[in-house]
Amino acid sequence: MSTDISTQFVIEKVKKSRVSTVDFETLTFGTVFTDHMFECDYIDGEWKNPTIRPYQPIMVEPSLKVFHYGQAVFEGMKAYKDDEGQVWMFRPDQNQVRINKSAKRLAIPEFPKEWFFEALNRLLVLDKEWIKKGDGNVVYIRPFIFATQPEILASPSNQYKFMVILSPVKSYFRSDVSVVIAEHYSRAADGGVGAAKAAGNYAGQFYPTNLAKEKGYQQVIWTDDTTHQYLEEAGTMNVFFRINDTLITAPTSDRILDGVTRKSVIAVAEHENIPVEVRRITVKELVAAAKDGSLKEIFGAGTAVVISPVKSFSYDGIDYPLEKPKDSYATFFKKRITDIQYNREEDPFGWRYKVNADNY
Ligand SMILES: *Cc1c(COP(=O)(O)O)cnc(C)c1O
Repeated sequence: MSTDISTQFVIEKVKKSRVSTVDFETLTFGTVFTDHMFECDYIDGEWKNPTIRPYQPIMVEPSLKVFHYGQAVFEGMKAYKDDEGQVWMFRPDQNQVRINKSAKRLAIPEFPKEWFFEALNRLLVLDKEWIKKGDGNVVYIRPFIFATQPEILASPSNQYKFMVILSPVKSYFRSDVSVVIAEHYSRAADGGVGAAKAAGNYAGQFYPTNLAKEKGYQQVIWTDDTTHQYLEEAGTMNVFFRINDTLITAPTSDRILDGVTRKSVIAVAEHENIPVEVRRITVKELVAAAKDGSLKEIFGAGTAVVISPVKSFSYDGIDYPLEKPKDSYATFFKKRITDIQYNREEDPFGWRYKVNADNY
């Protein structure tokens, strides 16, 4: 497959780009899509017909398995343009491995690595005008797979669609968030699908998150499903706690998604000699640290926002506010990681991936 993948791709370009009709200053996250999309079908036991075509609706039957049994997984990635106009991705190999890991857990066939990269590279080259230079401008990349067999028998689908859509994003200044620690609901359970980027994981957290929002909080920090004593993650982000100068984050498990940003924060911390502990941390420890003043920071880490500082957490009806320290780790990691993403700084980790137009 690796020798002739380019020739297997069918490419239908738009007659006229829509890029000049878009106001890039007022984009709302995930609402505008670029000119092209990628589509590939799994039929008769193999992935076939990799195609790039103009972004458009897809027509499907109401009996499609994904609607009834939720076999769907996705990824979230970004593409960046540096000041010279070169386009980059950040650790895309990680997302490629992860979407297949997620797929496997949902009984979805794995998607070939070569096609994954070919699809992303080609799309980003075709739609490169949609990626604007400058900090905060990115194209968000959404690869996803869903069950397309038109049948409502409760069994794994024998047909799937792998697609990639691209959405230009402008990240605005986002204020720090207040979070509530989960005491009743759970996002994931041992032996479940919490470690997969499964669509249904999100559906399950919307209701408890709405309850938190009604009380004035923006997000929930999920705890383990049996005791609600261990701090786990923040729904769309992994979560870090800074006690004195030590950074603490929970180890990944069945219930915690193995985030690329989380991994990158740990690697940067190790590189910078910032003490970092990957271990379980209890709500009790957090509350005690908040009370004695040793809790300096909490922040979420995920592709969409990179680092999201937390300004207060609530537990058992009590709010614990946090004052942002002068030497904020959140600020440091955000800058360090985005500088690598936008090719503004050295990348000692080898994380940047050059999207190469020369191949096409
Ligand atoms: C995607 C996601 C994250 C963050 O992962 P990144 O690879 O850093 O974007 C964290 N938790 C959950 C539940 C997620 O779905």
